[in-house]
Amino acid sequence: MKKNDIFELEITDMGVDGEGIGHYDGMTFFVKDALIGDKILARAVKLKKKYGYARMEEIVMPSVDRVMPRCPLHRRCGGCQIQALSYEKQLEFKERKVRNNLMRIGGFSEEKLDAVMEPIVGMENPYRYRNKAQFPVGYDKNGELVTGFYASRTHCIVQVEDCLLGVADNKVILNAVKDWMRAYQIPAYDESDGSGLVRHILIRYGFTTREIMVCLVINGDNLPAGQELVEHLKEIPGMTSISYNVNCERTNVILGKSTHCIWGMPYITDYIHLRNTEDFSLTDRAIAYHISPQSFYQVNPLQTEKLYSTALEYAGLTGKESVWDLYCGIGTISLFLSRKAKQVYGVEIVPQAIEDAKNNAKLNGIMNTEFFVGKAEEVLPAFYEKNEACDSAASKMRHPDVIVVDPPRKGCDEHCLSTMIAMRPKRIVYVSCDSATLARDLSILVDGEYEVRRIRAFDQFPHSGHVECVTLLQRKDIKTPKNMRE
Ligand code: SAH
Repeated sequence: MKKNDIFELEITDMGVDGEGIGHYDGMTFFVKDALIGDKILARAVKLKKKYGYARMEEIVMPSVDRVMPRCPLHRRCGGCQIQALSYEKQLEFKERKVRNNLMRIGGFSEEKLDAVMEPIVGMENPYRYRNKAQFPVGYDKNGELVTGFYASRTHCIVQVEDCLLGVADNKVILNAVKDWMRAYQIPAYDESDGSGLVRHILIRYGFTTREIMVCLVINGDNLPAGQELVEHLKEIPGMTSISYNVNCERTNVILGKSTHCIWGMPYITDYIHLRNTEDFSLTDRAIAYHISPQSFYQVNPLQTEKLYSTALEYAGLTGKESVWDLYCGIGTISLFLSRKAKQVYGVEIVPQAIEDAKNNAKLNGIMNTEFFVGKAEEVLPAFYEKNEACDSAASKMRHPDVIVVDPPRKGCDEHCLSTMIAMRPKRIVYVSCDSATLARDLSILVDGEYEVRRIRAFDQFPHSGHVECVTLLQRKDIKTPKNMRE
């Protein structure tokens, strides 16, 4: 086998990012866009000793699970990985991925998983679900202004104005910004030499309020023709906030440090509702959030409500509990929990996010939350060790009833996990965006006298390979409270 060889390959498995996997000539091949059950003509593009990467040249016999993708650009654009797979099979794939990781990395048995895993929660309509889009701006080969997405694993911009994962309003906004750039000769940024001005167009949309935010990321300290930009945008229904963000660094990081509002509010407002977890219908409880261009905020609001409502259900709160919410971001989960707990303590590494969390607590008249800036693996142990001799309030914090964690993909730090175990909460609710690190961390918690009681996967990102999970762990010596028995 050499590079560029063409061969017939049957796809028999799917990798963690949704890529097809097939075996040929004693080697394993990874093929982007190929699906389980496809028979394809593959071209070897990169060869290692035992495995390689191949490109799908032609589908000889399509998989029975293949559907016609709604987006014609799904192969070129890096945004979606498995749009050609029927949505039902996407959900099956994600559930299987979680299960496999829990068995392989976490050491859980099939019987245990059968007993604790609840069916994955998908979307009724898995399109137009994103409330945030960040479009890079540049020029195509003919020098025409383009906005869109990066082609997978490259920095070439594929022209996409109406991504089907985002809201339809994006197209109107992109066109208005492009009209303004052409009319006032505002150049797009060129990352090859660091020249030009407009790098990205960030758009956020409040699903519950229909408020829109537009933020231009620029390679300069001032936005020329700013008032003219406002004129182009402000009549768009829902427009609430127009700003620019300064990023003069030669970097792939999208946002720079400072943001300047040039029209309207510096934020938009959105609500997250509590849902009845039996059938995921809305209850009348909602929490308001102010979201600025730099705030972290979940991108799929509908699924987020389901995810957080389940986390809240797993926490089993009655109003008397003290709760830690580690990796709390802008306090989204903390504020949800606070409505049913006595006291909630949030920990987050990003100072601005903690500012947002405090403001959001105030906005909702919530008085029983306290937020700390720092690494969870430092704040929690420091607190635990320092207050050893204390009683009353501090002892409640040292031995909370519930700990909720929602770490980034790399999972929890070991020191954080060992402190959690030492604090002996009755329940731990683990919200995870990477089932491999979840499995690793669960096996540590299980060794530390906790038992996995419930796990549920959520499809936050239809058409991508990602999957979120919520897990309930209970201390082994605790009896399940009455209100939580099945
Ligand atoms: N629970 C929040 C945020 C989850 S994302 C929500 O649902 O909105 C994970 C968060 O962990 C991010 O806000 C990130 O800034 C934060 N983070 C990353 N490493 C951390 C660490 N070591 N300690 C505390 N927070 C951390």
